Amino acid sequence: MENRLKPMDAEQLREYGHKMVDFIADYYKTIENFPVLSQVEPGYLRNLLPDSAPNQPDSFQHVLDDIQAKILPGVTHWQSPNYFAYYPSNSSVAGFVGEMLSAGLNIVGFSWITSPAATELEMIVLDWLAKMLKLPEDFLSAGQGGGVIQGTASEAVLVVLLAARDKVLRRVGKDALEKLVVYASDQMHSSLQKACQIAGIHPENCRLLKATSSTNYALSPEFLSETISQDLTIGLIPFFLCATVGTTSSTAVDPLLSLGKIAKSNGMWFHVDAAYAGSACVCPEFRHYMDGVEEADSFNMNAHKWFLTNFDCSALWVKDRSALVQALSTNPEYLKNKASQANMVVDYKDWQVPLGRRFRSLKLWMVLRLYGLENLQCYIRSHIKLAKHFENLIAQDPRFEVVTPRIFSLVCFRLLPVRNDESHGNKLNHQLLDAVNSTGSAFISHTVNTY
Ligand code: PLP
Repeated sequence: MENRLKPMDAEQLREYGHKMVDFIADYYKTIENFPVLSQVEPGYLRNLLPDSAPNQPDSFQHVLDDIQAKILPGVTHWQSPNYFAYYPSNSSVAGFVGEMLSAGLNIVGFSWITSPAATELEMIVLDWLAKMLKLPEDFLSAGQGGGVIQGTASEAVLVVLLAARDKVLRRVGKDALEKLVVYASDQMHSSLQKACQIAGIHPENCRLLKATSSTNYALSPEFLSETISQDLTIGLIPFFLCATVGTTSSTAVDPLLSLGKIAKSNGMWFHVDAAYAGSACVCPEFRHYMDGVEEADSFNMNAHKWFLTNFDCSALWVKDRSALVQALSTNPEYLKNKASQANMVVDYKDWQVPLGRRFRSLKLWMVLRLYGLENLQCYIRSHIKLAKHFENLIAQDPRFEVVTPRIFSLVCFRLLPVRNDESHGNKLNHQLLDAVNSTGSAFISHTVNTY
């Protein structure tokens, strides 16, 4: 059979592209009409779609009709104004058109030579963002450090853990793997635990230190010091500390300065995870939450969470890029080229787990250019103002309590237990959560308080 397929036919692209943009624009106009949390039952889609792919092409309109009738009911509407669960994943027109361009160019920019603009724009845009966050100069690409866009904060912590592991093993010998110890608070996101599993860190050497309400769920430097001393006494090797600015459960902020000094005095790698709250630190009045980042070896924030850059775009900076490269570089014959061999360029394939990588910097560049710092600051402030308002409403209602002090735009609240019966109180709060989420008019998520 003759090949009639023209995969990127310009006129078909124009036709489908315009229709799809209209479809998406209409979706945004009516987004509040959908139940924000999808109300379908598991397996719902099997009953609605055929068992196998079609032999002959379908019409674009028919596919759009199916999206409307069969796919959208199974979508949880992350961009809905009624979405309050987890952390946000804010899209924007600027982020969207950047993503569109990246899909359109569809390059795979693993080495500089595979698309010089992809590597160079990423370096420039991450330098811009580093300056907006007032990161120390060591994180800029002009020196030994630099920024890279990872898919997620999970990948970011994984690659720096691998860099730190290999760095310490070069010093103490590779047989010492089982002695390596990682530290963080028990409020740390589970991505660290997953990174430890992948990196071969023994599960019993992953110290998730209890953080309690006495420190507003921040990691205590004294507790960290004591634990490190005990580990040293029994011959273990502390090598990695991860602190969080804005923990997932309650937006607790770990005291970076004192933690960083402890890490430094013990020769450990210090990583700061500011996946969510990093965005707020572009506002001068919130920047102090990052004080002490000077001590860090690496810093991460998700532009895809609260910075209007469509998923995925996780910005990671390191002070010593050679540590990443030493842990992650491979150099097969088929990837060799003059620029790389001469060490004239950055090859981002050596800063990440996969080889292939998308042109993600385009969307972040669009966001920064089309909105500008002042608008982005106002946007963050408006969210924090709304959260403050909600916090006040909760505080005025005797049935509820605000459980931890609100710092950014997350409000942790609960129904107060009757007669101090915590177990009944927990049950009531779960019932409230389910009741709210089943209405489809708001979606909220939960955590459990440790004392
Ligand atoms: N770190 C923190 C503090 C988070 O809140 C999250 C997700 O909510 C993550 C890491 C993981 O993010 P990602 O999905 O980008 O891996």
